[in-house]
Amino acid sequence: MPAIIPIPAFSDNYIWLLRAGGHAAVVDPGDADPVLLHLDREGLRLAAILVTHHHGDHTGGIAALLARFPVPVLGPARERIGGRTQALADGDVARVPALELALDVIDVPGHTAGHIAYAGVVAGAPVAFVGDTLFGGGCGRLFEGTPAQMAHSLARLAELPGNTRVYCAHEYTLSNLRFARVVEPGNDALAARQAREQQRRDRGQPTVPMTLDDERATNPFLRAAVPAVAAAATAWAGRPLPDDVAVFAALREWKNGFR
Ligand code: ZN
Ligand code: FE
Repeated sequence: MPAIIPIPAFSDNYIWLLRAGGHAAVVDPGDADPVLLHLDREGLRLAAILVTHHHGDHTGGIAALLARFPVPVLGPARERIGGRTQALADGDVARVPALELALDVIDVPGHTAGHIAYAGVVAGAPVAFVGDTLFGGGCGRLFEGTPAQMAHSLARLAELPGNTRVYCAHEYTLSNLRFARVVEPGNDALAARQAREQQRRDRGQPTVPMTLDDERATNPFLRAAVPAVAAAATAWAGRPLPDDVAVFAALREWKNGFR
């Protein structure tokens, strides 16, 4: 059964590497060099590349990896991904036979229009690879989608089992939680999480994967229906927010300008 290992890339990306036996798959290889370094050091052979969306920091390494390992490239059907061999959409299953891997594909438009996530069981535990959709304590920016799309995408991810380990593609948790504390200063679980994640970062550890339970308890972008969150968003917007999507949209806008 595969183990899941972070390969840091650029300033704050994680390329996730799954390995079993001598085989490996990578998710969102924005850069080939750190992946090839890891494969060579560990004596691993690449078996597949999985992609969540088309942004360069998630796809920039594909060509160079293919030059060394001509493997299947699984990616979103509704986006242009150079080298893609399998176009995936909601309800499809992403399979990597060498790793005995089978992950359900979930459409999660919002950050980009065709963004997908992969969810399933790895080494006996539920996991999800969510790209730039759900982050630790936050969510991706809306480059191509609408607030309603993103809110729906996050709600679908939030339906996964609470013990799901969520593998996102960036280490943004601490800055997201700083914003979350301003939105929801009375949330004790959030205060406790912020302290916990700060300790992790102080030790040089990733805050990813997160658990979905933690996200549901502390991530304001999953909590638009919580009265305190809606009240804070309404106060920031300075006008009534008629529904959860309007609250979500206000939170996203508020966060965009938050420093
Ligand atoms: Zn992105
Ligand atoms: Fe990204």
